[in-house]
Amino acid sequence: MRVAIAELKQETNTFVPRPTTMADFETWHYWTGPALIEGLGGTNSEIDGFLRVLTDAGIEPVPILATFAMSGGKVEDATYNQLLGELLDGIANAGKLDGVLIALHGAMVTESDDSPDANTLGAIRELVGPDIPVVATYDLHANLTARMAEYADALVGFKTSPHIDQRDTGERGARVMTAIVQQGAKPAMAFVKIPMVVPASTHIHHLPGPFKRLQDATKELETHPGVLSANVAAVQPWLDIDEMGFATVVVTDDDPKRARTLACDLANACWHERDAFMEIELVPIAEAIRLALAEPSGPVVLSDCADGTGAGSPGDATAVVAALLEANPEKPALVFVRDAESAEAAIAAGVGATVKLMVGGKLDNIFNQPVELTGTVDFAGPASFRFGGEGYTGVAQDMGPSAVVRAGNVHVLIVSNSVMTVDPELYRAAGLEPKDAQIVVVKSAIQFRAGYPFARRSIMLDSPGMSSDHIVALPWDKVPRPIFPLDPEMTFTCNPIVSGGAG
Ligand SMILES: [Zn+2]
Repeated sequence: MRVAIAELKQETNTFVPRPTTMADFETWHYWTGPALIEGLGGTNSEIDGFLRVLTDAGIEPVPILATFAMSGGKVEDATYNQLLGELLDGIANAGKLDGVLIALHGAMVTESDDSPDANTLGAIRELVGPDIPVVATYDLHANLTARMAEYADALVGFKTSPHIDQRDTGERGARVMTAIVQQGAKPAMAFVKIPMVVPASTHIHHLPGPFKRLQDATKELETHPGVLSANVAAVQPWLDIDEMGFATVVVTDDDPKRARTLACDLANACWHERDAFMEIELVPIAEAIRLALAEPSGPVVLSDCADGTGAGSPGDATAVVAALLEANPEKPALVFVRDAESAEAAIAAGVGATVKLMVGGKLDNIFNQPVELTGTVDFAGPASFRFGGEGYTGVAQDMGPSAVVRAGNVHVLIVSNSVMTVDPELYRAAGLEPKDAQIVVVKSAIQFRAGYPFARRSIMLDSPGMSSDHIVALPWDKVPRPIFPLDPEMTFTCNPIVSGGAG
């Protein structure tokens, strides 16, 4: 037997004006054919999970395409169409296939389509026909849509935030595939859309709270015989689009009625938790710096979540850099800003030179402005790293031309490309050691928790930016109303869409 494997991932933040282009996919990774196995084999990725389960089951994995762009603005239509074309050509030319396994993000938006992931699944379905199973995995922050459920035989999602179960999710998806193609399972899927959206900083699987309760419930359901998969997709909140909100998906073996009941039980549980999800604590930046410096030792992680690069923000917000320069701390503080122009200027000046730069505030010039930074160049050159920790372990990130400019004890890491800032390897790639710092700034609401288990404490900042956790204050326009928490008095009635099974 032969099953095609592919990845096509990007998470869109529709509040970010700069579009995502082909260059953004190429910067993270973009492989076709066997190169994707070389690139992702052994990493904590869905592709590695697909490979493990298929190989163990004696099924030949047929590598088609794997590409992943950093989170950002809407994907250009031309870019999406080119990638979809590559994917479909690859599948069409792969010879006889028994199934298609694809890793999607689930929250991609293009210039003209609010659910291109559904379009991708629809195009695959049209190509392979109704009898070849198509199983898709998706990120916890996916915005699942009815069309996605219509075209896929099964949708299988992450259960963790910070995300550490990428490989595990790939394995779960591939096990649903092997159940279908080898054991004759007939997936019956129930999908429920829930009109609620909550702050991303409350998506935490390893601490007691609403998110953990819901994900634990899905895990428990998956121990029941006949339940192939059970999922809660807690959509990320920066999507001002038509079909927006949480979703639940339950896949059973040939039992549509049970899938419907379980998906509604999970959906009602999500709705019941809605107020608990709104309990967030954001600390003003100057107060957070004072608290961090008062700790007897570091590192204290300050989360500049409103400029979260993993949430699609540009990573060039300056409010925290400015506050650190103003605080002039007596102990080392590490802070990140994306600014290709300033990185280039520091590299041109060279290590040891004193430079005066206006850093950041060029991509996010709505909430942030450039800040004057005068300091010594301590590092200059290209920089890249591979994730350590438990997150995207082994997956590579290219920061591009980069520099470290130090002003007193403030070490400003300036990079050219948008990258995940969630792992200490980011700073180490430029010669800085987070374990020796009192303050480490990350541009991430949750994912950094997988990279910084050694942090003394972490503080969520009330900072300005394009991925703010102040949900109600976001500039909503298209999102369907009523929706919680914009319309707090609304009610919810479960209305599942059920597909599949032997009928
Ligand atoms: Zn996510």
